[in-house]
Amino acid sequence: MPPWQPRFASALAGVERWLLPAACLLCRDPISQLEGDALVCGICRSRWRRVPDPVCCRCGQPRMSGLECRICAAWPPGLSRARSAVWLEGSARDAVHQLKYGGWWRVAEAMAEVMRGLEPLTGQVFLVPIPLGGRRLRERGYNQSERLAIALGARTGLPVMAAALVRARETRTQTALTPEARQANVAGAFTARPLSPCRLVLVDDVFTTGATLNAAAAALISAGAERVDAVTFGRAVEVV
Ligand SMILES: [Zn+2]
Ligand SMILES: [Zn+2]
Repeated sequence: MPPWQPRFASALAGVERWLLPAACLLCRDPISQLEGDALVCGICRSRWRRVPDPVCCRCGQPRMSGLECRICAAWPPGLSRARSAVWLEGSARDAVHQLKYGGWWRVAEAMAEVMRGLEPLTGQVFLVPIPLGGRRLRERGYNQSERLAIALGARTGLPVMAAALVRARETRTQTALTPEARQANVAGAFTARPLSPCRLVLVDDVFTTGATLNAAAAALISAGAERVDAVTFGRAVEVV
């Protein structure tokens, strides 16, 4: 690397800091110089509440031992396990909102930072972002799950295989649907390109019922994947 390059890069980062307000995207408080070019301040990040152990070995939901898991008992075969970093509440929910609707894709860096220790991210695995439908991709300009996967790949050294999975059809927004309706809504929503046996880890912003991840895993398994796990940044707050 020529000697001027690091200086040029840091000058560029300086210009970006000057152009962008050095305020936290979530709480609007100033971000200290020590935090570099972070979009989310340390205080907001420290408020993200980790999903606590012990969790169900398949779906990753915290659980009491001895009771059948209410989230994954009826899951079809395909997805081996899912793990999430933090509860989807407060400023973690705001971060997802900014990533999806605010155009702030660089917030994925702070989100990937708290996902990097999740169990499925070990060994020889490829990261596969959940694809967006063509219409949503055009509206948003980027796929938020792909931005997360790229940020996660940069931190873990794991390769991203964005072309493995294709959205076969557009699905209705899932927010108001029951778990059963979600499953029907995403059934057959994905197709996968033929794969040689490999271990894959799906990457998505939020885990709610696991319906989307299950549909994506089923497509990848039938295309030849050996094993499919999943990681998400947020997990919808406890179902009781
Ligand atoms: Zn903040
Ligand atoms: Zn479970």
